[in-house]
Amino acid sequence: MSLDTGHPDVQFAIEAVRQAARVAREVERELVDHTITKKDKSPVTVADFAAQALVGCLLDKSYPNDPLVAEENSAHLREPDNRENLNNVVKFVGRHLAYATPETVCQWIDHGGQDSANRFWTLDPIDGTKGFLRGDQYAVALALIVDGKVQVGVLGCPNLRDGYQPDHEGPGSLIVAVRGQGTWTTPLAEDGPFVPLKVSPIADGKDARLLRSVDAGHTNTGRVAQLVEVLGVQAEPVLMDSQAKYSVMAAGRGDLLFRLLTKAQPDYKEKIWDHAAGSLVIEEAGGRVTDLLGNDLDFTLGRTLANNVGIVASNGHLHEAALKALNQVFQEQA
Ligand code: AMP
Ligand code: MG
Repeated sequence: MSLDTGHPDVQFAIEAVRQAARVAREVERELVDHTITKKDKSPVTVADFAAQALVGCLLDKSYPNDPLVAEENSAHLREPDNRENLNNVVKFVGRHLAYATPETVCQWIDHGGQDSANRFWTLDPIDGTKGFLRGDQYAVALALIVDGKVQVGVLGCPNLRDGYQPDHEGPGSLIVAVRGQGTWTTPLAEDGPFVPLKVSPIADGKDARLLRSVDAGHTNTGRVAQLVEVLGVQAEPVLMDSQAKYSVMAAGRGDLLFRLLTKAQPDYKEKIWDHAAGSLVIEEAGGRVTDLLGNDLDFTLGRTLANNVGIVASNGHLHEAALKALNQVFQEQA
């Protein structure tokens, strides 16, 4: 299998994620003061908006007819109280696009408010905002969806090396998945070879390594504990923010991931940008991603996975056992 990086869609996605990750990195280094502003959300606001503005602008130039479905919009940023944040967004975007003004930046951000279509892009400008603020893992996640199927998925993980290893001083990881062409990683911030990623061969639950959100509010930790017991998982889970987890699984360094519904938000619908790029990254590395009932993710319904319930991702070998364990745990609860 080989990766055609010359394909215009792939080239665009790589360039857009690299630029968005670069601006996120700059905000992380210059605005996030870990000692004083740990609870202050403004750096992440600036990074989110700056990254989305950059991708919105690049997409408008390269593919003016392709809709973008992205997490942010400019309404909040346009409020008078947010003037300082807006000025900061313009400052950081302006380093990369000299003609950035408050108005053009807001328009580029709002490029992401479009409806999905037969062919469209979806972006999480900063997936894992809490990780970003902590100086941990976060990801820029961009995917191209055609006829409801993810065709290209690209993750930019500035604090990850070789697609799996936390490293805050290194070049970061770019992870590129193209349908039918595999999943590959290369340094994010410098030129390097593209190396293929492959999921682990682990087929027995007792050898499996679970990947989990740092934020316990994004799953049902009690039920995850039950699943761990049913599957016989022994290793301590790896806690990590964002779709960086999907890259770790694609690289064979984690085998299972559950996103269950929480008691606080039993009707939560997963957002497409939280899973589109990452799901192809896992599938093209040999793994499998479905909802908790074993259904394929349905990307045809706009901003959410409205037809799906939760997420289960695995190296493929453990998927049937994971679905069976889910069934058992849910039946015990019923
Ligand atoms: P993670 O770091 O894997 O926990 O994923 C972070 C993403 O979880 C954020 O981008 C949010 O969009 C998403 N999220 C927010 N609230 C919830 C929730 N109640 N259940 C599942 N995911 C959520
Ligand atoms: Mg997200």
